[in-house]
Amino acid sequence: MSRRKIIAGNWKMNETPTEAKALVELLKPLVNNPDVDVVYGVPAIDITTVVEAVKGTNVQVAAENMYFEEKGAYTGEISPAMLVDAGVKYVILGHSERRGYFHETSEEINKKILKCFEHGLTPIMCCGESLEQREQGITMDWIRQQVKVGFQHVTADQAKTAVIAYEPIWAIGTGKTATADQAEEVCKGIRDCIAEIYDTDTAEAIRIQYGGSMKAANCKELLAKPDIDGGLIGGASLKAEFAEIVNYNK
Ligand code: PEP
Repeated sequence: MSRRKIIAGNWKMNETPTEAKALVELLKPLVNNPDVDVVYGVPAIDITTVVEAVKGTNVQVAAENMYFEEKGAYTGEISPAMLVDAGVKYVILGHSERRGYFHETSEEINKKILKCFEHGLTPIMCCGESLEQREQGITMDWIRQQVKVGFQHVTADQAKTAVIAYEPIWAIGTGKTATADQAEEVCKGIRDCIAEIYDTDTAEAIRIQYGGSMKAANCKELLAKPDIDGGLIGGASLKAEFAEIVNYNK
């Protein structure tokens, strides 16, 4: 089965609304690959600006987080319905920075993933090991656990539409990229895990990205691997280089 590539930027806590508009305008003439789904993951305050700015292009907008309740007394949180109403299509969930700095658990991420599906949002669930875990040889055990808990009660039909981002923590923002073989090994392991939870059809349909210092110079090799269906890009998504990654096959 041929899966459509999905290249998503994760802007993290960068770009004011004014800067966000300027970045979208900078990228607009450069980001044009009909073979690829392109997503800008942007801070909540930038969503309205970016949704407006990408109108007429094939770019979709992702939130970087979302709460799992419908509404109510959850000061500072953002609900699924708010994101849908604002024009968001994807939600990045369980990024290692949220798991690390904000102590998000796989159980909470699972509740958020289920809420995404209830509201027609597509989750991009991040998973990945620390350097210590890699050195201890427990990378795949750890990631399988993150995937199994993250996908609890998710149906096969829902899972088919989901995106998983494999992001080794030691490669995020460090300039240290996993080799294409290392990234492929884990992405294939994640696909095998999905096949165990569901079936091969679901495993063949779900899209698995690699993230961690992906840039123009290394994206071709990573994206050529059979189980790597795209990239989640931090640093390089904030500059014109992002377009080179989107246009990786040109
Ligand atoms: C990320 O934060 O998801 C990421 C992959 O960052 P970077 O590309 O900067 O390593």
